[in-house]
Amino acid sequence: MEQIPCTYCGDFFDPSPRHKNQTACKKIECRQAKKAAWQRFRMKTDPVYSANQKSSNQKWLKATPGYWKDYRQRNPEKAERNRILQNIRNRKARCLSPDAKMDPSLIAKMDPSKCDNFKVLGQFWLVQVIAKMDALKVNIVKLPVCYR
Ligand SMILES: [Zn+2]
Repeated sequence: MEQIPCTYCGDFFDPSPRHKNQTACKKIECRQAKKAAWQRFRMKTDPVYSANQKSSNQKWLKATPGYWKDYRQRNPEKAERNRILQNIRNRKARCLSPDAKMDPSLIAKMDPSKCDNFKVLGQFWLVQVIAKMDALKVNIVKLPVCYR
């Protein structure tokens, strides 16, 4: 059988004759990436699956108090990265629906009256922090101004 490229690493591999539409090679990181993509898809498209996952996560968190606090202390660079990304998500949500008022209690430690403006900063290289990826050249651009 003809070799096909792995969607996740790009290496060519021999697809299993038993599994049609195989997209990932045998490497553990590729199989994990495929599973994560499948879970993200199910979370977006299957309300029952999504509700079960959320319920399961809440039960786990209740049984494991302080996990995220410890995690942020052990990984300050990841906590900072998440703060930045959450700030961008908040800004995007506000800008996409200027009439909808966002509930400030949804996001911890957020000052709803404060609206920072991103400035044009230029061109940067993104290097891996969490996910395994090659350095990526990106342009940082100013987001549209929020009107509330
Ligand atoms: Zn692969």
